[in-house]
Amino acid sequence: MVILLRALRFYRAEGPRIVLIYLLMSLSIFAGLIRPWPLALLVDFLLTRHPLPAVLSRWVDPSNASGVVLLVASLTLGLHLLQAGFSTLQNYFSIGVSLRGLARVRTELFSRLQRLSWSFHQRMPIGDLLYRASWDAFAVQTLFQQGLVVFSTALMSLLLMIGVMSQLDARLTWVALLIAPILMGVIRGLGPKMGRRGQEAQQADSEVASRVQQGIQALALIQSYTRESIEAREFSDRVEQARSTRLSQHGTELVYGLAVAIVFALGIGLTVWLGGNRVLEGQLTVGQLLVFLAYLAQIYEPLNQLSHVGATVATAAAGARRVFEILDEPEEGPDPATPAEFPHLSGLISAAPKWRLEFDHVSFAYRSGLPVLRDVSFAIEAGDIVAIVGPSGAGKSTLLHLLPRFFDPTEGRILLSGFDLRMFRRHELRESIGVVFQEPLLLPGTVAENIGFGRSGATRAEIESAARAANAHEFIERLPKGYDTVVGEGAARLSVGEKQRVNLARAFLKDAPMLLLDEPTSALDAESERMVVTTLEHLMRGRTTIMVAHRLSTIRAATRVLVLDQGQLVEFGTPEELLKQGGYFFKANAG
Ligand code: ADP
Repeated sequence: MVILLRALRFYRAEGPRIVLIYLLMSLSIFAGLIRPWPLALLVDFLLTRHPLPAVLSRWVDPSNASGVVLLVASLTLGLHLLQAGFSTLQNYFSIGVSLRGLARVRTELFSRLQRLSWSFHQRMPIGDLLYRASWDAFAVQTLFQQGLVVFSTALMSLLLMIGVMSQLDARLTWVALLIAPILMGVIRGLGPKMGRRGQEAQQADSEVASRVQQGIQALALIQSYTRESIEAREFSDRVEQARSTRLSQHGTELVYGLAVAIVFALGIGLTVWLGGNRVLEGQLTVGQLLVFLAYLAQIYEPLNQLSHVGATVATAAAGARRVFEILDEPEEGPDPATPAEFPHLSGLISAAPKWRLEFDHVSFAYRSGLPVLRDVSFAIEAGDIVAIVGPSGAGKSTLLHLLPRFFDPTEGRILLSGFDLRMFRRHELRESIGVVFQEPLLLPGTVAENIGFGRSGATRAEIESAARAANAHEFIERLPKGYDTVVGEGAARLSVGEKQRVNLARAFLKDAPMLLLDEPTSALDAESERMVVTTLEHLMRGRTTIMVAHRLSTIRAATRVLVLDQGQLVEFGTPEELLKQGGYFFKANAG
């Protein structure tokens, strides 16, 4: 119920349209309600010369039997057409409204996914998120359509029909409605089970989606180790599991459907038997029994719908719950209520006073009890080029990721100009940091858009000048459509070195005073590396740079070297000092 109400909140803006839907719904129900009456009147008129009601006698002379037949036929036709017309219009509007809600959920989900922290995204498999954003989102639409529109239509027509039926013959109505409590028993007994099965099946399908995504992502690895058939076997196990959970879900649905059908069969059979006897007793006219039976046949529909609404809503609620889990996931903590003024970081090298960046007893753990950084303290100054070196898994990238606050220290503080980073507005901090990752990232779009990502509102001239600075202009010009060539998945393929230069151009354009480089040359061949290193040296000029570096080529420019080992800072100083110390840095360079 809570989930249903929450899903309906996505439709708050649709008030006037929902009123229109309800209006059309009422008209269609009303037309449906009087639809069987002309025929009933005709039957009584023909069988027993029962007088026509005054309204009809005004239209046709009762002695003209064929005229009466024609009038009744026309009325029946008109009422059917009206009912169909209203109900079609109602469906048209409710589908439109329900789709607008779906669009709203999707937009909100995407923007939430964009704002959620790195730590969240590292925890969640991409395939699962994809499934939630694309398929589970439909659940909100279903909840509106089934949980509100179909439910209200069914309930309203059910109540009205019961009202008319009890006017005709109260006793017979109660007998016919005996099925209602039995039906409720079936719904209560099997409904929750169906909900659970639905959730299990969705989870299993989402795991299949995850697996496809992982399989494609690791394709090169899988093929190079010729593990295709093993992977396919493992995949088919997943598919099999998804199949059997779906099967068990559908099985429960079938049992449910069968139980409902049996209850209805009992109800209709009983009513036909008793109703026939009421006509024999002279308590009902044949025409009235016909109306009764017509309603009973129609009542099956809303009752059936109401009984299915339970199951559909239960399944949709499971999907919606998975959507809301994402929407409820806390975003990165809010900015402080009274943020510190962000220091002016540019004009670093010559201008005084120089600012400092200080790690003050910083420890960090992704999972509590397993520290990745331990009690790290050091300070650097504006204009420094700091190389972080150390064995793989020492915590180098983690240290880098603390600076834009992808994660915050578990203990200790990082101070910029004396202020804890957590005291600044996050976006101001991030705007002053340029990041180049190990694996160059391209977004789907043109080369110009990819570079322009570095600064919104950049002109084409600025983008080109950033590309020139990054040694990327020449190769971009040679692409089929130059700067307007679409890159990314399925489009023009760039080499890793070229992609990295597009990434560097983006950093040039951003022109941030602080630069973080996470082994930006490690994925490159010697030729591209030379080109990228030259560009990097150019990019680092006049900025404070912190880089994770393996290769000597990138360490050459460093003014400070920081050696990490198992999360601890073991050496820190100028390259010359460290070479003299004869520790890790010395040994690494001697080799
Ligand atoms: P380096 O860059 O020095 O190779 P990292 O900072 O990438 O080291 O990783 C340090 C340690 O933290 C490694 O043991 C790694 O497995 C672990 N680690 C890295 N990222 C995560 C994460 N998102 N969740 C849990 N552990 C992680």
